[in-house]
Amino acid sequence: MTLSTRISTLTPGGSDGWEVFYRARQMKAAGTPVTELTIGEHDIRTEKIILDAMHRAAVDGHTGYAAVPGTLGLREAVAARIQKQTGVPTTPDNILITPGGQAALFAAHIAVLDPGDRALFIDPYYATYPGTIRGAGGIPVAIPADADAGFQPTAANITPHLTDDAATTKSLLINTPNNPTGVIYTQDTLTQIVDTCRAHNLWLISDEVYDTQVWSGTHLSTRAMYPDRTLVIGSMSKSHAMTGSRIGWICGPEDVLEAITNLATHTTYGVPGYIQDAALFALNQGDTLEARVAAPFARRRPLAMQVLEGQNLVRAVPCDGAMYLMLDLRATGLSGRDFAEQLLDTHHIAVMPGESFGTAAAGHVRVAMTVDDASFVAALEALVAFAHTLTQEP
Ligand code: PLP
Repeated sequence: MTLSTRISTLTPGGSDGWEVFYRARQMKAAGTPVTELTIGEHDIRTEKIILDAMHRAAVDGHTGYAAVPGTLGLREAVAARIQKQTGVPTTPDNILITPGGQAALFAAHIAVLDPGDRALFIDPYYATYPGTIRGAGGIPVAIPADADAGFQPTAANITPHLTDDAATTKSLLINTPNNPTGVIYTQDTLTQIVDTCRAHNLWLISDEVYDTQVWSGTHLSTRAMYPDRTLVIGSMSKSHAMTGSRIGWICGPEDVLEAITNLATHTTYGVPGYIQDAALFALNQGDTLEARVAAPFARRRPLAMQVLEGQNLVRAVPCDGAMYLMLDLRATGLSGRDFAEQLLDTHHIAVMPGESFGTAAAGHVRVAMTVDDASFVAALEALVAFAHTLTQEP
């Protein structure tokens, strides 16, 4: 059977970086208890009040084809939310509701890339980025951010990737608050990014799906700085623990959104109406519900800092947002992958190797703060103790 180059090269080499996760799941299926600190999924489920709203909408008959760009009510609510965040006038015509942020990322790249165009993204990165770009016909170009500069990308990181063949470089994808590092891009970082995009005529695709998980500092959207060329990716997966409902959005200039809506007509055909009604209900609950969903991570982050105190072998990258801790293990001499494999074998704790997210986070592991507090602390203590067994350090 011969499949298209596009699909067979989505994940070249057959590796999608999730081997430790798959192995942990196999161990669990075979009956071995494993503490999973791998995927970005809350340990709480979608709140009952949201599910009740979903049920009511379904029973009331919102089960037919829904409007392809999204219901007017939901697009109004998303537009109001983005206008409040950015100060940029935003209407439902700037919004397309999508089946999650992932579909929005794909649609955004389809919208700005012709086949063979280069699409930049910052490394470390959310593991699907290169495949999403390839799927959209583009050539993914990773731009390593410097671990020792706190993974804040700079213009100096980006511009060397623009010298060759600049005319075919169409976009830059960024993510703040960041998965996997937990870093929030500063005003200075975003200014450098926007200035570079402006100078090189690039679209800026800004993945902001963690915008409600901010522990320190402020989340800033480049829509406020570069509204004509920014496509914001949003989602209710992380903000409202609605990962399985598959609901997100793209926000950008009206003419781009019109074109992307045409793409949706030819691909997803919209998002189920009862899911959209539940999402609108959830957004209407305001900050209180968002804070409740984010609370477990807000609580676990300082717990983690306490565990890491008093030793220098395992260092946390300053985690200002999102549901992850990036731990720098370079002092152990092991790669993130070897460390994660050995931790799984010896302690039945699964974490993601930094190498699963590119080259820049080599020698790190990403720990998702997604198990109950006691198990989280116990797992981190075991991780630190394990790291110390690898070295001479007492
Ligand atoms: N972007 C980032 C940075 C993510 O971490 C994720 C999921 O983990 C997504 C996008 C996709 O999320 P969803 O499709 O559930 O909205």
